[in-house]
Amino acid sequence: MTDTAADVSRWIHAFQAEIAEHRVRLTELDAAIGDADHGTNMDRGMRAVVAKLDDAGVGVDIGSLFKTVGMTLVSSVGGASGPLYGTLFLRMATAAAGLTELNGDGWASAWDAGVAGVQARGKAEIGDKTMVDALVPASAAFAAAVGRGGSSAEAWHAAAVAARAGVKSTVPMVARKGRASYLGERSAGHQDPGATSTYLLIECGAEVLGGVARADRERGTATESVST
Ligand code: ADP
Ligand code: MG
Repeated sequence: MTDTAADVSRWIHAFQAEIAEHRVRLTELDAAIGDADHGTNMDRGMRAVVAKLDDAGVGVDIGSLFKTVGMTLVSSVGGASGPLYGTLFLRMATAAAGLTELNGDGWASAWDAGVAGVQARGKAEIGDKTMVDALVPASAAFAAAVGRGGSSAEAWHAAAVAARAGVKSTVPMVARKGRASYLGERSAGHQDPGATSTYLLIECGAEVLGGVARADRERGTATESVST
């Protein structure tokens, strides 16, 4: 797998469209355990991101592209998710600095750095009912597939399956981080909005960069569908 900045930009644009499509649902999920703004936060942020990319041009340096995404999210999204998604992309930017192509190892390193940044910033672990519950298993599955010599399609497929399982795992959890933690036990029984948007990010990667059609992934897993 080798992806150029133009490929990465297609992924970011696909994520923006996906967030716009699921904006209301993401906000409904946040209404149940937060303050009903996750869909509008992410939609505002991703619209700002694509506007910036369309204005400034994508260029060839993948690190710079990720940096633009991260900085725009930090400055345009309030709430917990802005700094956290911002950190994800800013750390990916550092990992991909100066690169005009990302191969499997490059992607695995970028995910690893991004996830470490989110955890350093938000202090959430697996089981705390946050985006980390989708992000950590997806990144690990991606790296494992690359380590086995898997193709881009295999790595993204594995990541998407892991993210899907991760987001479903948040439903019974009691939140220990973010606004949902204020609800204590009452947060159980609801799917985490941030884990859901993270799952969509990885789904878009699987589709756009891995070339894995969504229906193929659904058939490949016996899980029920994730609520988006
Ligand atoms: P806010 O909670 O400030 O309203 P959003 O609604 O946009 O921000 O985002 C909420 C999501 O942010 C949660 O569903 C959760 O996934 C994620 N989140 C909150 N706090 C943390 C944290 N400390 N670490 C990781 N993710 C977090
Ligand atoms: Mg919120």
